[in-house]
Amino acid sequence: MRSAGRHAKSRAEAAAGGGPTTDTDEGGVVTVRTSHVSWQRRAACRGPEARLFFPPSATETRPARAQREARAKAICATCVVRGECLEEALRLRDFHGIWGGLNEHERRALVDA
Ligand code: SF4
Repeated sequence: MRSAGRHAKSRAEAAAGGGPTTDTDEGGVVTVRTSHVSWQRRAACRGPEARLFFPPSATETRPARAQREARAKAICATCVVRGECLEEALRLRDFHGIWGGLNEHERRALVDA
């Protein structure tokens, strides 16, 4: 999925089965959500830089990881869908890679808080 962008399909569509999702609020009102794909089309991480958002398959040194994550987070800082991205990651409890400008440890801390 990397050539079309890191979020173009792999995360939201995989999690939601590729179609709209529904939520039911406390009052029993069902809401159909279809925005999970549209926000990904506006992701700043689409394209060749997508590789920065996940650790490589080979071992990565601590300094190399810090440098890679800093570059990814700099892209997130410019992203117009940062909020949607982080919300999705927290909703899915996805703790792999950078989402919404936060790495997996930072997101876990939010969830555990
Ligand atoms: S906030 Fe970061 S990870 Fe999320 S879509 Fe934007 S650039 Fe990609």
